[in-house]
Amino acid sequence: MKIVLATHNRGKMEEMSAILSHLPIEILTLDLFPHISDIPETGGTLKENAFIKAETVHKITGLPALADDTGLEVDALDGAPGVFSARYAGEDATFYDNCTKLIKELDHIPSGKRTARFRTVISFVKNEKKLWTEGIVEGVILDHMKGEGGFGYDPIFYYPKLKKTFAELKKDEKNNISHRGKALRKFQEILEKRIELNG
Ligand code: IMP
Repeated sequence: MKIVLATHNRGKMEEMSAILSHLPIEILTLDLFPHISDIPETGGTLKENAFIKAETVHKITGLPALADDTGLEVDALDGAPGVFSARYAGEDATFYDNCTKLIKELDHIPSGKRTARFRTVISFVKNEKKLWTEGIVEGVILDHMKGEGGFGYDPIFYYPKLKKTFAELKKDEKNNISHRGKALRKFQEILEKRIELNG
């Protein structure tokens, strides 16, 4: 089976391909479909956005499609930026802009109250079949950026159990504990069962 990853985000693409590499499927990326541009995320929830992306790519390519929508939920901000995480500092915000804005917003918040979580919803669409899974990881938002790896909010997302930000982790270390890793492994289990059932 071939599956198209419905994302232009290189960081996500690499993580998703690595996590699913054990499955007997061929992973295709949107690099092979340059006519598919950015898909507007007009849904009100991560799940809606994840399905908008997978359904759009499935419709255009005719292939099974897998999408991810992720939000960073900060407790001191009542769950913001959440579904708006990509556009937190404006429509064309860079990863740096978003991290800088979040650091500023949490300026007055003491270290014990800077808890947050990444939440990922993975969606899969193949004709009438639709599947979704969710993964969550808990952490703390730092008041400065630390680490060179990862992408997005990784430099300010501190993972207490490893005493490192996500940007300081090796790729496989992040994939083993991350929101995306958890959601994808749940998806992988479901898919493996179906492949077994279909012989
Ligand atoms: P979206 O799922 O592409 O809409 O992502 C929402 C925002 O969260 C974007 O700014 C991403 O860069 C960021 N993001 C998504 N996944 C991760 C991650 O694993 N680490 C850090 N930031 C992420």
